[in-house]
Amino acid sequence: MPSSAYQFNVPITSLPIIGSDKAFPVRRIYCVGRNYVEHIREMKEGDERDPPFFFQKPTDAIVLDGATLPFPVWTEDYQYEIELVAAIGKAGRDIEVGEALSFVFGYAVGLDMTRRDRQREARDRRLPWEMGKSFDNSAPCTALRKATEIGHPNNGPITLSVNGTLKQKGDLGQMIWKVPEIIANLSTQYELAAGDLIFTGTPAGVGPVEPGDIMTGTIAGVDTLTITVGSRSR
Ligand code: MN
Repeated sequence: MPSSAYQFNVPITSLPIIGSDKAFPVRRIYCVGRNYVEHIREMKEGDERDPPFFFQKPTDAIVLDGATLPFPVWTEDYQYEIELVAAIGKAGRDIEVGEALSFVFGYAVGLDMTRRDRQREARDRRLPWEMGKSFDNSAPCTALRKATEIGHPNNGPITLSVNGTLKQKGDLGQMIWKVPEIIANLSTQYELAAGDLIFTGTPAGVGPVEPGDIMTGTIAGVDTLTITVGSRSR
């Protein structure tokens, strides 16, 4: 391709909103680490009462429900993490816990896809987490359900099956840091804005997938996310 053929028509990442013809433009993707006790134990890391910590994924890592995503490069241990996603609808910083839910536009079901081998290396070598967490297509997510329609889910089953076999099973009520606390804490570190997504952590049972596997994640009262793992991209 000649150098005069640069193309800057970069698409804006957005999520459909159920019950609306408008889309939700994604601004940033924040993720909470270690937010269910049984998952901390299976990963053998950390104090279970540590304050929440956050990492980010690139906005264009979003993959829509029903898609086939390519098996990523640079991993032999590609793992799922089913998570409740909260979508922020207005700007705020230093948000009080008691006000936090008024900042949530809606919710979705997401997958924090992880190159576990790269994440473990980063942890062991005290390197940044991007190589394990923040790669192409690493944030599958359903359409948003408006909080005005479904409320603010804070208990009920969160599950992930692979090819119909149940792998992850937890309850939103097991979250160490609840959605309002996550928002309050995160908003002391960053100014939140409309379009921000927060992946709120995963219950126990994480594990690997291979090309051809079908992942089905469900959160009661929110939605079901179905993603197929495609072939290796190269
Ligand atoms: Mn996660």
